[in-house]
Amino acid sequence: MDLKFSPQDEQYRERLRAWLDVNLKQHQAVSKAGDVEPVQAARDWQKTLCEGGYLGLSWPREYGGQEASLTQQVVVSEELARSGAPAPINTIGISILGPTLIQHGSEEQKQRYLPKILNGEELWCQGFSEPGAGSDLASLQTRAVAEGDHFVVNGQKVWTSLGMIADWCFLLVRTNPGAPKREGISYLLCNIKTPGITVRPLRNAGGGSHFCEMFFDDVRIPRENLVGEVNGGWHIARSTLDNERSGLSGVISIENSLDRLLQISASLNRGKERAIDSDSVQQQLAQLWIEKEGLKYLGFRNLSDQIANRPPGPAASVGKLFASRLRQKIGKAGFDIAGPLAQVGKKSPHSIARGRLQAMYFDSLGYSIGGGTSEIMQNIIAEKVLGLPRSYED
Ligand SMILES: Cc1cc2nc3c(=O)[nH]c(=O)nc-3n(C[C@H](O)[C@H](O)[C@H](O)COP(=O)(O)OP(=O)(O)OC[C@H]3O[C@@H](n4cnc5c(N)ncnc54)[C@H](O)[C@@H]3O)c2cc1C
Repeated sequence: MDLKFSPQDEQYRERLRAWLDVNLKQHQAVSKAGDVEPVQAARDWQKTLCEGGYLGLSWPREYGGQEASLTQQVVVSEELARSGAPAPINTIGISILGPTLIQHGSEEQKQRYLPKILNGEELWCQGFSEPGAGSDLASLQTRAVAEGDHFVVNGQKVWTSLGMIADWCFLLVRTNPGAPKREGISYLLCNIKTPGITVRPLRNAGGGSHFCEMFFDDVRIPRENLVGEVNGGWHIARSTLDNERSGLSGVISIENSLDRLLQISASLNRGKERAIDSDSVQQQLAQLWIEKEGLKYLGFRNLSDQIANRPPGPAASVGKLFASRLRQKIGKAGFDIAGPLAQVGKKSPHSIARGRLQAMYFDSLGYSIGGGTSEIMQNIIAEKVLGLPRSYED
């Protein structure tokens, strides 16, 4: 892999920096003024990124993508991280569903959905997990029965991230209960406004509610919203999960968390010295930085695979596992470095850095569960990457 940046790449970087200087400032001013509702402001920011040509970098041009070079993709990741720009709100659509539709969707589906995923007009959520089907996803019970040119769906999904603000959901359903469990599953695209869908927010350990449960009562989904073949959804779900896991290893937000921790360490006193001047804090931060750089190069390898049209595959689990551990180490380091007051939430007058360290810690916990738990990642790496014998039943 040759990651030297050409003069053209450096010009591209300069143009992006100039673009961010103007557009990010405008977005920050709008968000600060509070006149625009936060979800709308986030959609507007995504639209700005899309119109600027900084989203869908590896996607085909005919669906709104950029077909950018590997090095340009790296430049965009680096510059977005450096500027502290927020990630696009439709991350689930962009990094999980989009690549799945490019690989498995019909031409009509690609034309219909991909441009609106990129410009933020339609926000997506993922309806895979159920109360009895998480790690063992293939046991899912939500039923879809074909009736004329519709499927009628009944069942429940849970832990659906962003379900309360999404417009659409990609959904796994059981269409043949008599078949072996992986052979009776279909993959549907469902408009959340369809009658019969109830969305209830769930509260997480940190007090936020970024995910929800979704109930489906006789929900009619047009047959044209089926991706791939009836009962052929498992194989498509596998590539969705690979895309999700490669996206979850994304280094930008980890880089931002680490930068935040560095800033907080520089502004906090421990006894007579600043926290960042202590040898042990420096050792801890340096170790985290080294691991973050390792993750970055793993991300570059994923990008080279994408650019060569190689889907992420089971190796995406390595990045996902490594990234979730690193996030948790950074979350814990915040508590170690800043001491007990780091655990105080932002509403308390005693909180440090407006409760950011507490939020970072709680936020980090879910990463080793969402998108497949660390134990499942280890199973996949053992079996599919290292070729070790399967050690569990399913
Ligand atoms: C922050 C967050 C966001 C999420 N967002 C979404 C979303 O948008 N859409 C969605 O569909 N789902 C979402 N999920 C759900 C997530 O995918 C599931 O929670 C996850 O797959 C684990 O399933 P489970 O909770 O049913 O736990 P279980 O599968 O019941 O696992 C319980 C424990 O047993 C272990 N275990 C299970 N099987 C094995 C095995 N074979 N070998 C070794 N250990 C095993 C697990 O590692 C875990 O520690 C989200 C979860 C979180 C935390």
